Amino acid sequence: MTSPQGRAFAVMLAVFGEMEAEGIRARVRAARAHLLKDGRWPGGGVPYGYRSTANPDGPGRVLVKDPVRSPWLAEAVEIALEGGTVNAIATWLTNNGAPLPCRQTTPQAVGRPAWNRQTVDGLLRNPVLAGMTPYNPGRAKSAKRVNPFAVVRGENGQPVVNESLAVISTEEFAALQRLLDSRSSPQARKRSERQSTSPFLSRVAHCDECDVYMCRGTNQGRAVLYCPRCRQTMSRSTLDPYLVQRLLKERGREPHAQATVLGCWAATGDELAKRKILLAQLESLRIRRGVVGRLFDEERVLLRWRNSTAAGGRSQEEPAPHSPF
Ligand SMILES: [Zn+2]
Repeated sequence: MTSPQGRAFAVMLAVFGEMEAEGIRARVRAARAHLLKDGRWPGGGVPYGYRSTANPDGPGRVLVKDPVRSPWLAEAVEIALEGGTVNAIATWLTNNGAPLPCRQTTPQAVGRPAWNRQTVDGLLRNPVLAGMTPYNPGRAKSAKRVNPFAVVRGENGQPVVNESLAVISTEEFAALQRLLDSRSSPQARKRSERQSTSPFLSRVAHCDECDVYMCRGTNQGRAVLYCPRCRQTMSRSTLDPYLVQRLLKERGREPHAQATVLGCWAATGDELAKRKILLAQLESLRIRRGVVGRLFDEERVLLRWRNSTAAGGRSQEEPAPHSPF
């Protein structure tokens, strides 16, 4: 390595080494692809509910149903298709003592809860459920998640289905994937988060700057209203009580549904009913941008009530014109 010739030789060795490594990778990929097309098991992690066995029709190994675990797999799939959540299935498998995946019964795994949502999600997404073969030549374990649509296909482009391995049809498998995706999509998660915040101020307040409805959300775990356009936020832990206090104090005697605002308010615990009472009194509610900080600033709240009916005006009992209902 001290002479120019020595350094050149080292570089050449490295180049040949790289060529050889690439050649090996290509041969492994080709071999796996060949085995998959041939209906043989190329090795790697055996999916839950199955085991590999000597190929009765020739060399190599093939996948067959594991008589012990396959019924549990079929039952888990059934529960999922009926709408059971991944977490519910994990709990069900644990409580009923379903045998764990083989690779998790190693001594290191003892004492650890093995049925978790990742394990269940993984087995529900494996195309082998419909007798299809995941097409993943060259990357068996490195693939983070099996792409349920990358499967071995025949000459006609249709998935090759081994009926002896299937616990559901390919149609049921596709429906199952849609079900799982609809539950784990960011949108689905957002929707469930939003439901946990109070609907009291849903589509009630406008951003004064942008003239759009402010949305319900959370900021670092605290409920806020935020403007989807300029992103200003208003903490609801202070805004909600402030509005309620003003509503009851300034409009408590207004008639509402054969009673008064105060009476109706006291009679209901329902957030949406309260929202309706507020909307019936509200002319407009706009939120101004303020100095960033935690303190509540009254100046940011531009609140206008409707014309008072108690003061002799025409009845304004109809729901607000901008009510989404
Ligand atoms: Zn805005």
